[in-house]
Amino acid sequence: MTSDTDIREAVRATRERVAALHHELVRYGLVVWTGGNVSERVPGTELFVIKPSGVTTDELTPENQVVCTLDGVPADGWDNTHGPSSDTAAAAYVYRTMPSVGGVVHTHSTYATAWAARGEEVPCVLTAMADEFGGPIPIGPFAIIGDDSIGRGIVETLTGHRSRAVLMQNHGVFTIGKDGRDAVKAAVMAEDVARTVHISRQLGEPIPISAENVDRLFDRYQNVYGQTPSGALQ
Ligand SMILES: [Zn+2]
Repeated sequence: MTSDTDIREAVRATRERVAALHHELVRYGLVVWTGGNVSERVPGTELFVIKPSGVTTDELTPENQVVCTLDGVPADGWDNTHGPSSDTAAAAYVYRTMPSVGGVVHTHSTYATAWAARGEEVPCVLTAMADEFGGPIPIGPFAIIGDDSIGRGIVETLTGHRSRAVLMQNHGVFTIGKDGRDAVKAAVMAEDVARTVHISRQLGEPIPISAENVDRLFDRYQNVYGQTPSGALQ
């Protein structure tokens, strides 16, 4: 990307998308109060856009989404009116170290976070899980907010893993995607399968899907299913 006008247009469009995607978190019941956040890399730049800190979804506008550098600090020259989400350092670490990632989402959605609280991965016992995550949804380490430790835990857990979701122990869900919308989809699906597998566990022991069938389901879903199959993220 070369022209200043192109960059301004890319930032404007990304702010609009990120503001709108937060409503999907509410629509699917993944967040309460000011919790949860969506961020998205600004295509063709060294910038990303993330939710402002401490603002409810109803107060979100394209203009108050915060434009940040990949170091996780607000970027100069973009009329940032608010401080960025407290999860900005984690998202920035992911964008710096995983170049194929274009979107990062964080929620404390109930069922997925209940698995995180017990430090147990969600086993792959549903074809929808094999399709979307290509196996279990893994557990990441316990990490305290405020430095790179959450970001490092996300990257270390998801690198080489087919899942786009990680359950950070005692904390909640972080998802990655090709863009913000893809990461939001992973957050919605992670909660959905965490809920179903939890309920199944109340009734008995869910039946595992063989590794061979998980591979077949994942490959078909990522490469054949849908109008425009776009392949796995990594
Ligand atoms: Zn959190």
